[in-house]
Amino acid sequence: MSRRASGAARQPLAVARPSARAASRTASRTATARTAASSTSSSRVAGPRGARTAPGAVVRETARPSKARKAAERGRASSKAIVLRTRFPLLKGEALRAHARALVDALLALHPDAHCELDFRDPYELTVATILSAQCTDKRVNLTTPALFARYPDAPALAGAALEEVEQLVKSTGFFRAKAKNLVGMAQAVVARHAGAIPASMDDLAALPGVGRKTANVVLGNAFGIDEGVVVDTHVGRLAIRLGLTRETDPVKVERALMAIIPREHWTVFSHLLIWHGRRVCEARLPKCGACALRAMCPSAPPVAADA
Ligand code: SF4
Repeated sequence: MSRRASGAARQPLAVARPSARAASRTASRTATARTAASSTSSSRVAGPRGARTAPGAVVRETARPSKARKAAERGRASSKAIVLRTRFPLLKGEALRAHARALVDALLALHPDAHCELDFRDPYELTVATILSAQCTDKRVNLTTPALFARYPDAPALAGAALEEVEQLVKSTGFFRAKAKNLVGMAQAVVARHAGAIPASMDDLAALPGVGRKTANVVLGNAFGIDEGVVVDTHVGRLAIRLGLTRETDPVKVERALMAIIPREHWTVFSHLLIWHGRRVCEARLPKCGACALRAMCPSAPPVAADA
């Protein structure tokens, strides 16, 4: 007799009987799953908190439930959930360009004072402030830069700075060691390659330590008045999707998409407009759709009754 058969002979087979409580729990889970499945299979959520799908929209469902969908099913729409659930059809060609131009006009009327919120007096100060603004608020940067600029008023002064001293001055902006290293490296490169003056071209700027395309765009657009590109930060990326301008999430692709549909003379101000609107109305977690003046032209806007 095999060991298995002998064990079976000694011990009667135990059949697991679910308790009444466990059975009821299972039934409840099954019901919940059915409800969720039926609601998602016919889902037409296309934006913040139960937003409507644009007329004629075909909602694309992913095969596996995404984190976004799970969050929404729990009744909480995270910012990522909101972006990921934006599935209205994107306008194309001239219709998309007309939509973009209408948004520019509406945003200009809405935020006529939109501007760069970093304090600066010249290209050097804006370059420094923009490097410091990575992972930090403009407000915090503006509290930090007066002492820094008083100590190092231009690139030649900063190029000769002791790294430890710069670190202490920029400590409150976070990532201070990397930022201090970039600031001094940028200043040294400006002195060595451009006679101490911040260059006014994308290639020259983007080649400086700590200065990528985004920082170069900020400096060119705001310190030199050159519309070379569209600054894409977290607000611009989020609003570009919510407002139906693109579905891209990579900043480089978002910038390319916006440059194709926004008139060049508005490239710089358009990013300020989206940033202002994103900070004041279309916030990441709780967009104030009910009070948003763009509602009529926003494909992510919920129907009037849904967000009352
Ligand atoms: S732009 Fe306005 S209507 Fe559209 S999602 Fe943002 S807050 Fe809501």
